[in-house]
Amino acid sequence: MEHSKLEKHKFKKGKFITPWNDMLGDIGVMQNWALERLPEYIWIGLIFEEYGRKKGLEKCYEMITKLHELNPEINAPTISNILSMDDIKQEQFWNFVKENAEKKVLAPLTLIYTYRRYKIFNKLFRDNEDYETKVNRICDVLRKGFDGHSFFATDIRFVVLYFVLLQGRLHVPENILETICEYPHIEHKDERMRLVRPTIRSMEMGTLDMGNVDKRNLEIFWKRISEMSECETFYIEYDNLAECPESYLDFLQEIFEYLTKVFVSTAPLNEKYLVILGISTYAYKRIKELVEHDLYNEISGRGIIRNLIEDYIMLKYLILHEEEHQNIWNEYQYYGIGLYKLVMTRERNTPCSYKDGHVNYRYIELLVNEYMDEEYINMDTSYFDKQAIRVKAKEVGEEELYKLFYDYDSSFEHGLWGAVRESALLKCNSPAHQYHCVPDCIGIQKLPSVWKDCVRTMNKILAIIDGYISIPKQLLEEVQKFE
Ligand SMILES: [Zn+2]
Repeated sequence: MEHSKLEKHKFKKGKFITPWNDMLGDIGVMQNWALERLPEYIWIGLIFEEYGRKKGLEKCYEMITKLHELNPEINAPTISNILSMDDIKQEQFWNFVKENAEKKVLAPLTLIYTYRRYKIFNKLFRDNEDYETKVNRICDVLRKGFDGHSFFATDIRFVVLYFVLLQGRLHVPENILETICEYPHIEHKDERMRLVRPTIRSMEMGTLDMGNVDKRNLEIFWKRISEMSECETFYIEYDNLAECPESYLDFLQEIFEYLTKVFVSTAPLNEKYLVILGISTYAYKRIKELVEHDLYNEISGRGIIRNLIEDYIMLKYLILHEEEHQNIWNEYQYYGIGLYKLVMTRERNTPCSYKDGHVNYRYIELLVNEYMDEEYINMDTSYFDKQAIRVKAKEVGEEELYKLFYDYDSSFEHGLWGAVRESALLKCNSPAHQYHCVPDCIGIQKLPSVWKDCVRTMNKILAIIDGYISIPKQLLEEVQKFE
C-alpha cells in the first residue's frame, strides 16, 4: 500500500486525519472483513487451502450452486446461514460438500461447531486427525485471509459474490458482470487482475449487512479458536550502536575539566559563562548516566536525548536573544529558580503528606534564597521568555530536531499511547487472537538506540561553547569521531 503524504492529511482540531480515515470514518469497514465476514466464510477458505485456487474455484462453484438450489432465500453463503437451514437441507448440503471435497478439509471446523449444538455438521465431518493439525489449519486460513485485499481473501470474496449473483439478490451492469465472470479464468499474476480484483472486493463488501447477521456463531468462533491457540508474541531487536562509549565519556570529562579550570581561573563571576557551562554540564551528566546505566535502548534513554535537544536549543536561543535583553543569563536563572519557589511556597502552605518523598524542600528553600531574598523572585509558570520550545526551535533553525525527535520523545515523557504501544506492549502474531497486543511484563521489548543522536547533540553543544571558551582542537576532533 502506498503511504499517504503528510500534506494530504487534513488537519482537524489539532490532529491529523489520514485520507483513509476521513473517507471511512473509522476502521470499522476494514475490521468488518477479517473479524466478522472471514469467520463466516472460513469453510470456503479451507477448500482453497486444500485444493489451491483453480481446483478450489471449481469445487466452490459446485457447492454454492447446490446451496443455491437448496435454498434460494439466504442472502449469503455464511456458515451461520447454512447451519441454520432445516435438518434435511443441511444434511443434503453437507453430504454434497463431502462428495466434492475430502472429509478432512472441513474437519477442523468440528472443533468449533461441536456436537452439542451442531449435530449434523459435526457428525458428518468429525475425524481422527489430531487436534493441533486442525487448529493450525484454521489459523493458516485466517492468516492468509486476514488482509481482505490479499489474493486468497479475494478468491473467497469472489465465491461469496458469485453466490449472491446466483441468488438474484444483486443486479449489476452487463460490463461489470462480464468482469466478474472473467475472474476465475484469469490468474492473479495477469495484469488485467489489477482492475478485476478491486471490482470483486468492492462488490462483495456490499453483499452482507452485518447489522442483520446473528452474531452468536461469530462469538463462538472467536471464543473457541482464541482459546485453542497459544499467544505468539514477538518483539523487535535493536542494537545499542555504542562503540567504546566509555572513551567518549573520558574525552568529555577531559573537556569539562578543562572548561571548568578556565572558567574558575579567568571569569568566575561571568554569568553568561556560568549558564552556558551549567546547562552543558547538565547535558554531560545525563549522557554519563546513559552510558553508566546502559540506557541506550530503554525508555529513560528517550528522556535523555529529549533533554539534550532542549538544552542545545535553549543555549542557541539565549545566545540569539542576548542583545535584546538587559541580562538574559540572569533572567534565565531566575526563571528556573522561580519555578522552584512555586513548589516551595505550595509546600509551605500545605506541607507534603508523603513520607520520604523525593523532594528536599528545605534545600530548595536555600537555593531559592541563595543570592536574592525570595520576596523579589517572580514566579512565571509560562515558558521562559514566553516562547514554547517549538517556537524557540524554529527561531534557532533547529526545527527538524523538534519535529522529528523532540516531539516523538515527548510521547515517552508523558506516557502517551504511541510510546506505551511501542515500549510496553508486544504484538501477538496469532490471527486466532486477532493480532492483539499483550503487555510486555518481562520487559523484553527494547527501543532504538539513542546513542548516535546523543553524541551528535552533545557535540553540537560543545561547538557552541567553543565559540566562547575555545576547547583544545585535538579534544574536539576526538569527540567528533564518535558521531
Ligand atoms: Zn495472543
